[in-house]
Amino acid sequence: MTGIAGKVIAITGASSGIGEAAARLLAERGAVVILGARRSDRLETLAASIVSKGGEASHLVTDVRRRDNVVALVDLATDRYGKLDVLINNAGIAPISLLDDLRVDDWDAMIDVNVKGVLHGIAAALPVFRRQGFGHFVNTLSTAGLKIVPTMAVYAGSKNAVRAISEGLRQESGSSLRVTTISPGYVDTELPSSMTDSALREQGQASMKAMAIPASAIAEAMAFAIAQPNNVDVGEIVIRPTAQA
Ligand code: NDP
Repeated sequence: MTGIAGKVIAITGASSGIGEAAARLLAERGAVVILGARRSDRLETLAASIVSKGGEASHLVTDVRRRDNVVALVDLATDRYGKLDVLINNAGIAPISLLDDLRVDDWDAMIDVNVKGVLHGIAAALPVFRRQGFGHFVNTLSTAGLKIVPTMAVYAGSKNAVRAISEGLRQESGSSLRVTTISPGYVDTELPSSMTDSALREQGQASMKAMAIPASAIAEAMAFAIAQPNNVDVGEIVIRPTAQA
C-alpha cells in the first residue's frame, strides 16, 4: 500500500512534541491514528482536535514501561480498525547528567522508557505484522547518538541501543516489513521538562530557543518514510537544525 491515506498508525508519546505533530500531520493526510501516552487529558484534546478537522483518531492511556499497556494500544488498532500498518515508537525522556553525578534512577528511567519501551512496541506489533504480512516500525532515535558529548552518555546509549535493535529487526524482517529510524537534532518540544538537573534543563531550554526546528519537520520526515511503497524501506533519516554543530 503506497501513501498515507487509509493506513492505521499507532504512535507512542503522542501527547506532545514530535508524536503530537506526527499524529496531526498523518491524520491530515488520511491516516487513522492511534494515540498512546500517559497524559489522558492531552490525548483526549488531541484526538478531539483531529476528529473536529475530519480525521480519525483513537487514544489509550499507555505507559510504554508496561508491556501490557503497549499490547493494549496495538490491540485497539487491530480490534477497531482491523489492522496496524505502522507503529511509531516515539515515547522518550532525556534526564541527562554527568556520569559522576550518579543519577542512577535517571539512568534506569531512560533505559526503561527509551529502550524497553521500544522493545515492548516491537513485541506487541511484530506478531501482528507477521500475521498480516506487512508492517512498518518507525523508531525515534537522536543525533545525540551520532555525536556523544558530556552529559549525554546514557541518553545516547539508550538511543544507540535502539539503533542496533532496529538494524537487527531489519535484518530479521525479510521483505515484508519495513524499519525506519529517525534521528532528530534539537526540536522545539517539551523534552527538557524530563530533565531532572535544573542547570542542564535551563541549558536545554536555551539551546532549543536558540536553534530548535519545529516538531512538524520531524513529522514530515516520518510521513515521507511511511508514504513510500511497501518495497521501499527508508532506513535512516537524520534531521537537525542547520545551526546545530
Ligand atoms: P516531548 O517531551 O514533547 O514528548 C515525549 C513524549 O513521550 C510525550 O508524549 C510523553 O507523554 C511520552 N512519554 C514519556 N514517558 C512515557 C512513558 N513512560 N510511556 C508513554 N509515553 C511516555 O518530547 P519530544 O517530542 O521531543 O520527544 C519525542 C521523542 O523524540 C523522544 O524519543 C526523544 O528522545 C526524541 N528526540 C527529541 C529531540 C528534541 O530535541 N526534542 C531530539 C532527538 C530525539 P506522557 O508524558 O503523556 O506520557
